[in-house]
Amino acid sequence: MSQCNDKRCPVHGSLSVRGNLFTGTVVSAKPEKTVTVEMTVIQYVPKYERYKKSKSRVYAHNPECINAKENDIVKVAETRKLSKTKNFVVIKVIGKKKIVEGEEEPIGRKHKAKEEKEREERQEDKKAKEEGAE
Ligand SMILES: [Zn+2]
Repeated sequence: MSQCNDKRCPVHGSLSVRGNLFTGTVVSAKPEKTVTVEMTVIQYVPKYERYKKSKSRVYAHNPECINAKENDIVKVAETRKLSKTKNFVVIKVIGKKKIVEGEEEPIGRKHKAKEEKEREERQEDKKAKEEGAE
């Protein structure tokens, strides 16, 4: 965090950010100063009147002073084209992926368990009715 010599840093360099801003998870931070950020995009599909969840990946510049690691939740902003495939820059590390997953997963499981329980109850009701009819 001390000295940042990166010219392509939105805070210390001359890089200006504009356009889209989004949050995603770093899936790869292997190349120097570049990260692959994956984000979930929710799209509306008119044909089925439902929302579709899909994933999208972009390459983003990872400045020295930010130094995002794999599994970090980061805020990414659109900027000028930095290389053939990069036109985004990481502007902030929000947190770690594990924390967010821990919050999300149990809700899904709970919901599923509830559905299963309701289904079982319905089947039991049906059974009880059938038995009563005999
Ligand atoms: Zn910097």
